[in-house]
Amino acid sequence: MRATLTIDLDAIADNWRALDAMTNCETGAVVKADAYGLGVAQVAPALWKAGARTFFVALAEEGIELRRHVGPEAKIYVFAGHMLGDRVMISAGDLVPLLNSLDQIARFKERLPGRPYGLQIDTGMNRLGLEIAELVEAGDLSPELVISHLACADTPEHPQNASQLAAFGFARQFNAPLSLSATGGIMLGQDYHFDITRPGIGLYGGLPFADATPVVHLSLPVIQEREVAVGETVGYGATWVAERPSFIATVSAGYADGLIRAMGNRAMLYAGDVPCPVVGRVSMDLITVDVTDLRETPDELDILSAYQTIDDLAAAAGTIGYEILTSLGARYHRRYVGG
Ligand SMILES: *Cc1c(COP(=O)(O)O)cnc(C)c1O
Repeated sequence: MRATLTIDLDAIADNWRALDAMTNCETGAVVKADAYGLGVAQVAPALWKAGARTFFVALAEEGIELRRHVGPEAKIYVFAGHMLGDRVMISAGDLVPLLNSLDQIARFKERLPGRPYGLQIDTGMNRLGLEIAELVEAGDLSPELVISHLACADTPEHPQNASQLAAFGFARQFNAPLSLSATGGIMLGQDYHFDITRPGIGLYGGLPFADATPVVHLSLPVIQEREVAVGETVGYGATWVAERPSFIATVSAGYADGLIRAMGNRAMLYAGDVPCPVVGRVSMDLITVDVTDLRETPDELDILSAYQTIDDLAAAAGTIGYEILTSLGARYHRRYVGG
């Protein structure tokens, strides 16, 4: 049987309220990429219920989907702005594009004159957004929101935070609400908060919101258990060799479920609070685990729980919590609690 991914909607609501309490401004909610892989259809209504009124998505298609789950009153901003092909979606979904370039401004003004828009300006990340020099060329603009994005907010001492903050001061000339901070920027303190924040990962229990309530729990069913003698190997490539008589449990999930192959021989699964090392390579549908030190092998072993967060697992796999979450596959039985 497939594994069960439990998603705690009350924890997401608690995290939103906790992040909101850290500022004196409005708190938005970033629900791009299907709410970081956790399911926008369930997550967005829970955030609305907690008090979120302003949402951010990456793409117009995500905005259309989100609109169905939050109703007509929610404000929905699109980070990608107005791309070719977005016109009908922007008007039908009542989406507000955050325009990123002079080309996008021209496209929007030609195709959707009179509709509301925001601007994204680049203050040093060089990923999306208008250069400040371009804004001077852009002529008369009346955005309803101006945002920029910090490249190094998860590293509070990084000098680029202060330099981006200083550059963002330019946006005050628009007399529009301003937004600079995602989760990391909220942690940097009041100077970074402006009028509305845009937390994503913190809502879903990840760093850099160190006090987040964990949101996901993932238990993998044990399919079988076997004894392995000293010198025998486990898994593809025979990369793990038993150095003692061992019990190996094989659980039902693998890299096709987002439990990336880089976890092989590095991550832990948990029997409650007892860590059991992953041994050998991760297969597409299976992971092998050393359960020798358990008195009894349980029916399931946890890979995400209070004892191993998305960031703990990410560290073992050489990645970040964001990638662990957004990789969690479509094959799990998804169980939502709370909300
Ligand atoms: C993804 C994203 C966010 C949210 O970032 P987190 O680090 O997940 O809080 C905010 N703003 C922009 C522009 C983003 O791309």
